[in-house]
Amino acid sequence: MFATTYVCEKLFSTMKIVKTKFRSRLTDKYLRDQLRLAHSHKTRRIQSSTHTGVASQRTSTYLMDNRCRHCHNEVENLAHVLGSCPHGEALRNARHHQVRSIIATALKDADYNTYEEVHGLSVIGSTRRIDIIAFKESTRSGYIIDPTVRFETDEEQPAEVDNEKKDIYNPTISYYLQKYQLKELEVIGLLVGARVTATLFMKDVFKRPGIPTSIIPIVTLAALKGSIALPKNHLYSKSNQVH
Ligand SMILES: [Zn+2]
Repeated sequence: MFATTYVCEKLFSTMKIVKTKFRSRLTDKYLRDQLRLAHSHKTRRIQSSTHTGVASQRTSTYLMDNRCRHCHNEVENLAHVLGSCPHGEALRNARHHQVRSIIATALKDADYNTYEEVHGLSVIGSTRRIDIIAFKESTRSGYIIDPTVRFETDEEQPAEVDNEKKDIYNPTISYYLQKYQLKELEVIGLLVGARVTATLFMKDVFKRPGIPTSIIPIVTLAALKGSIALPKNHLYSKSNQVH
C-alpha cells in the first residue's frame, strides 16, 4: 500500500507542480509528457523487463497522439484514468464497493434497517438495482442512497449527481414502499470525489439520516485509496488488448 500511495501521490504532486508552474501552457499533451518524464525511469525499467519490442512500438505511437495507451478511445489524462478507462473498471468497482459498504455500516450503526444492492422495479417495468436502502423501523421512512465516486469537475457537480440519481431511482420508490411497507423514501445521489473533495453537500446528506459526519473522512479516504490504485494499474499493468 505504501508503494502504491507513494506512486499516486507523486503523480498528483507532479501534476500540481506542472499546473502551477506552467498554467498557461497546460494542455493534456503537455501535462501527460511532464508526468511521463517524472515517471519515465520506472516505466522504462518495467517496459524493458517485460516486452521491449511491443513497448517501444507502443511508446512511439503513444507519443504521436494523446490517446489512451489501453483503450485508445479518449485522451489519456487523470480524469480518464480515474473515471472512465475500461482498463480500470475492476478497480473502480472495488472502490465503489468499499465506499458503499462503509456508508451502509454507518447506517446500520445509526439503527437503520439497511440493505445493499437490492433489485427493484421501476414504474415503467424496467429492473434497477439500488446501492443502499435504509429505513427506520419506528418511522417506516428512509433513504435510497447511491454513492458515486467521480473525478471532481465543479461546484455544481454534487447537485447534478443528486438530480441524476433522483431521475433514475425516483420511479422505483413505489416498488420499495410496497416491498418494505414504508411510508416515505427519498433518493440521495451522493457524490464522493475521486480526489479527496469532501463537499458541504456530503455533510448535509449525512446529517439528515443522522449519520455522524465523522464518517466523511473515512468515506473520502476509501475513495482515495481506490483512486490511488488506478494510475498505478494504468501505468504499470499490461493492457488486455493486443496491438
Ligand atoms: Zn483508456
